[in-house]
Amino acid sequence: MSSLRADQVLLQRINRITVLRYIKREEPISRIDLSKRTGLSPSTITNITHYFLRKNLISERKSPATGAKGRRPVWLSLNPDGGRLIGVEIRKEVLRGAVTDLSGKVLSYKERNVQDPGDPQKLTAEARDLVGSLRAKLKRRPRLLGIGVSFPGVLDPETGDCLLWADAGWGRFPLKEGLEEGAEVPVLVDKDSRAEALGEFWFGAGQDVNDLVFLKLDSEVSAGVVSDGRLYRGSKGLAGEIGHITVDPKGKRCRCGKLGCLETKVSVPAVLERAREVLKEHPGSSLAGQELSLRSLYRAAGEGDEAAGKVLEELAYFVRMALETVAYTYDSELVVLAGEMVEAEGAEVLLEKVKLGGFPLEVRIETSKLDEHRGVVGAASMVLHRLVVEED
Ligand SMILES: [Zn+2]
Repeated sequence: MSSLRADQVLLQRINRITVLRYIKREEPISRIDLSKRTGLSPSTITNITHYFLRKNLISERKSPATGAKGRRPVWLSLNPDGGRLIGVEIRKEVLRGAVTDLSGKVLSYKERNVQDPGDPQKLTAEARDLVGSLRAKLKRRPRLLGIGVSFPGVLDPETGDCLLWADAGWGRFPLKEGLEEGAEVPVLVDKDSRAEALGEFWFGAGQDVNDLVFLKLDSEVSAGVVSDGRLYRGSKGLAGEIGHITVDPKGKRCRCGKLGCLETKVSVPAVLERAREVLKEHPGSSLAGQELSLRSLYRAAGEGDEAAGKVLEELAYFVRMALETVAYTYDSELVVLAGEMVEAEGAEVLLEKVKLGGFPLEVRIETSKLDEHRGVVGAASMVLHRLVVEED
């Protein structure tokens, strides 16, 4: 592709994303208003809305009569029933799947426990089976447009092969190919934090920005990056794996084999382990004898418990480090924080500490706006995204 042509494709992609997101946010809206709001020429708006109408992504209707002279403008709205999306979230313990409409609304949801996460063949078959049971309830119309699958391991960005999923003991495995078996609609597979970043971009906290970083602080730490409406994957699919940046060379051994990775400081198991250590030095703590969880830790810290406060102080330091890392690396308009670390009850005490003093760049930080369905909605958003940006 010549660079001029590549520029045009990129521009077209950004314009389409901009226009659909405006329609979605401000519907019903006329073409003239779209042109004014986006700064795009009326002819560009006409081309793009024509494409969306052809793909059934939007619908049009006459605006109500006002008595004013002249032609009544046509109003455009997102057409939630222009198609159906399926999103699947693969996790070590559980498979989740949902059918959504084009506005990301979950219409049906299923989950099942994973019997044998270490067996890639079996888990892929179970995922296909879950999709089959979701599809069984779909009518012929609205048509199923595709299946998005979010996956926790490292994927080859070209082939969709799993390269490594250490947590479940997977090596190389043709995951996308396995999921495509019998699908007869496009199947898209991506890293979980990337799918969730896209979910926030289309349906969550990032609907008004072009660039965002989704930072997931959970039992693992990773980031998903949307830049100019594109998911950033890197050459080997490793972009955003910030959990394995060294933050303490003298620190503990990480499951990846290195010492002192970020994940040994801010992941859920790491924080609870650290709390247990600190409690040994503070036998009088209100946490002693209690079942230790993020919730009890945050509550004790909020009540002024010294041991809990110490753990929280350290944790906030490393969460801030994670935030600064992604903020300076990607210079995004928005960082969306998600995962149990920031979503457990009482996590406000952590967030307040993290934000204290502000950031030199005044990074906008928000927590995820999507609920417990974030994983499947993120996976489904990949299908919508592809429809919007594909060359056609
Ligand atoms: Zn590591």
